[in-house]
Amino acid sequence: MPRPRVAADSGPGPHGRPGDPLVDRFGRVHRDLRISLTDRCSLRCTYCMPEQGNEWLARSSILTLDEIVAVARVAASDGVTTFRLTGGEPLLRPDIVEVVRRLGEITAPDGRLVELAMTTNGIRLPDLLPGLVAAGLGRLNISLDTLRRDRFRDLTRRDRLDEVLEGIAAAAASGLRPLKLNAVAMRDVNDDELVDLVEFALAHDAELRFIEQMPLDAGHTWDRSRMVTRDEILATLSTRWHLTPVPGRGGAPAERWMLDRGPRSVGVIASVTAPFCGDCDRLRLTADGQLRNCLFSTTEYDLLPILRQAHGPDVAASIDDAIDGMLRSCVDGKLPGHAINDPGFLQPARGMNAIGG
Ligand code: SAM
Ligand code: SF4
Repeated sequence: MPRPRVAADSGPGPHGRPGDPLVDRFGRVHRDLRISLTDRCSLRCTYCMPEQGNEWLARSSILTLDEIVAVARVAASDGVTTFRLTGGEPLLRPDIVEVVRRLGEITAPDGRLVELAMTTNGIRLPDLLPGLVAAGLGRLNISLDTLRRDRFRDLTRRDRLDEVLEGIAAAAASGLRPLKLNAVAMRDVNDDELVDLVEFALAHDAELRFIEQMPLDAGHTWDRSRMVTRDEILATLSTRWHLTPVPGRGGAPAERWMLDRGPRSVGVIASVTAPFCGDCDRLRLTADGQLRNCLFSTTEYDLLPILRQAHGPDVAASIDDAIDGMLRSCVDGKLPGHAINDPGFLQPARGMNAIGG
């Protein structure tokens, strides 16, 4: 399905000038840029990618490191304070350590370094983590939906649970904190492991965050009745722990609860049954240079023509202005909410692996 794209000559958005905060029409200030580094992955999670026949992004369209840095620099100058690297699997990118090093050097207008986080499936982490930490990586989220090898193989279509667990052990042994583990809760798949997953996270000094399954699989097979809801997750966890809400969520996607009055905690990202769009401060950059203002958006803002015009010192400033204008157009086009629950909801054409989770 073709994706509506906003072209480079659409001009700057009406709200603000270079250096101003990225504020949308509903007053939301955008501080978080999710940067997808690739649509490729070492796993094939059923809720994200098809087993075969995925339409890969053209290699020629994948942003180079310099292009990613160009966008990130302008975003930081406009008040973005966090970059989260994702994909696909970000650790598959051959220059990942250099990506982290270059992005980790970017500063906000007040001179502070931008915060650098990554979401990964953990495979290759034992080898790469020392270099990533030395390069400036600040935080890690690692995805883990099951502790059972047979289930992992069915769910990800790859027999690689041991490598993921080694990655989590490496992260736990590193100084990176807070460490978070993400699990998509699925009916009759892993909903009997919710307590075990939390116990596993606690044993690794990590916080488990359950995610409600969203309609973002490349195969468009999402079925609301298969989704385990936030309330069901909480009911299951309440059989084991007394849960007390943690106040002060801000723009964070996860609601959090103290386990037995803390300090240990658990999170739930209830994008479907309790959307948090009113506080959303996130923008996304896909691996092929499209800005998106929502996971579920069907419009993309095309940075490639801006980034790939002839370069030279004389045009550098105008390229920055054009990136800034596209960021503002993207923010300005943001809707109040994602509308998953509306009858007319249309799933985006891209799967989660190509959007950047
Ligand atoms: N490959 C990395 C990983 O799995 O952590 C990063 C990319 S992945 C798309 C980012 C996060 O999105 C993962 O935690 C994954 O579980 C989550 N995710 C993917 N598809 C999803 C869906 N349909 N609903 C909810 N979460 C999803
Ligand atoms: Fe790969 Fe992450 Fe998607 Fe699983 S969720 S297929 S690990 S991109």
